Amino acid sequence: MAGKIPQPFIDDLLVRVDIVELVDSYVPLKKSGSSYVARCPFHTEKTPSFAVTRNKQLYHCFGCGAGGNAITFLMEYSHLGFVEAVEDLADFAGVQVPRESGSAPTKKNNAAEVFQLLEQAASFYVEQLRDNASAKEAVDYFKSRGLSGEVAREFQLGYALDSWDALSKRFNAQQLIDAGLAIANDSGSVYDRFRGRVIFPIRDRRGRVLGFGGRVLDDSLPKYLNSPETSVFHKGREVYGLYELLSKNAKPARIIVVEGYMDVIALAQFGLGYSVATLGTATSKDHLELLFRFSTELVLCFDGDKAGRQASWRAVEAAFPCLRDGRQIKIMQLPAGVDPDTLVREQGLEDFELRISSAQTLSDYFFERLSQGLNLNDMEGRASLINKAKTYLQKLPNGIFQDLMQDKLKTLSNVEKLDFFKKPTTLKALSHKQKQADKKLSPIRIVISLLLQNPDFIEIIEQKKIKWAMINLAGADLLKQVVEIITQHPNINQSQLVEHFRGQETEKYINIMMNHDFLISDGLREEFSGAIDILIQEGKNSRFNELNTKQKVSDLSTNERQEMLSLMSPK
Ligand SMILES: [Zn+2]
Repeated sequence: MAGKIPQPFIDDLLVRVDIVELVDSYVPLKKSGSSYVARCPFHTEKTPSFAVTRNKQLYHCFGCGAGGNAITFLMEYSHLGFVEAVEDLADFAGVQVPRESGSAPTKKNNAAEVFQLLEQAASFYVEQLRDNASAKEAVDYFKSRGLSGEVAREFQLGYALDSWDALSKRFNAQQLIDAGLAIANDSGSVYDRFRGRVIFPIRDRRGRVLGFGGRVLDDSLPKYLNSPETSVFHKGREVYGLYELLSKNAKPARIIVVEGYMDVIALAQFGLGYSVATLGTATSKDHLELLFRFSTELVLCFDGDKAGRQASWRAVEAAFPCLRDGRQIKIMQLPAGVDPDTLVREQGLEDFELRISSAQTLSDYFFERLSQGLNLNDMEGRASLINKAKTYLQKLPNGIFQDLMQDKLKTLSNVEKLDFFKKPTTLKALSHKQKQADKKLSPIRIVISLLLQNPDFIEIIEQKKIKWAMINLAGADLLKQVVEIITQHPNINQSQLVEHFRGQETEKYINIMMNHDFLISDGLREEFSGAIDILIQEGKNSRFNELNTKQKVSDLSTNERQEMLSLMSPK
């Protein structure tokens, strides 16, 4: 599992996948001229400035400047690390990621070790539930909840013995601490975090165990205990039950968001396999973005008590920036003190699904909640509603839904003229600005940009036989680096070229120059050749000035004198 991903594999992968197909599977694209466009997934806008180009195999947003190749897209869009993004891309291409063997331990290997230990701990907990006589109480608990062995296996349910060292005596102490499974006290001794609890492993969407939730079997507190944040576990970004859900259905029509592990499991037991739970934290924008990748409709289904109602409202608040057209959030209100687990057990699946289908739309829920306590018959009440709604509506991505919400506010407040939304900069306006900017582009930027966009221009550079030592302008090192990479990798494409700069200081500039739009397609070779001639001439001038200055204070060597003469003569 450990080991670096070989660079040739990454180069090959970038040729194998088509970035247009990849991006289109996340953000539906429309063809426009030679590229494909959409409203940018990385900032909110009304008109599309996000473009994906097939021949470059790159994406670029003219609005916010986001850009890169297929790997960058997955890293940014799905909040993945580099290695995870490469793995996802390989999945998309249907190939396996090879690993170089015998690499020295690195940070990534540390994560791999943590994952391995978490997996071993999960198996250990399952074994205890199955085989250990002291787990009888836990078995009884699950039975009393009506869980079948099948569902227990599906969710890999387990039991942590009521012991201080069931894990600590079996595994490496430091690794247990890193994995969030053990705690060191002040005197340095280490003890198990989960004791006497039924255990729910929390898995990511690839099935890797990230951490655990544990529930007590008596009335002791806390009733639920979760793994702490670790190098692999981030509660704000993960949900419980997603792996199990996706194993059954990769594209569910809707996903129900509930509060507890037992809600997810009980619903699955009753045949509703499309629910997930947040991990004892408020539902965040990251949670919702994650879920919207798999379904266009999310139904929030929290306990009907005060805390549950507050949780719903907070989730709705978090949802506003995610509500692009085509995405929908509904709110399913439960009677106070009733959770989904109880409800499905008492009323059955059919009743539960009926409630889902009659869940309230976000707009109804939102305006109902905001209007509470306001008298919309008087002016003050209506003004107050507008004020309260405004900040939320401004968070919505530009689109039809935003327009409709604004219309609804107009109707409710009886105010005709409301316009909260700024007009975004359009592509056309931008390209005009760019035209002006082109004129100010330095020759070295022209050379680098054109070379990045046309790696085959390398032959022009080869013909010119450049004396690199003489070109000491700002940016010359970067140009040299680009030339070297292209020389070493004949036939390199732009997406692969960008990849060579990942993580370097210059990555940002490379992306900008890679996407600079020259607005002309003819005569680029001449433009390039001309700009190089200027670079060479500038190099000569600066060398001449250097020698000239030196000559005034000391004698030049014979070689230097000859050099100066040659610099004076035209080439
Ligand atoms: Zn953007």
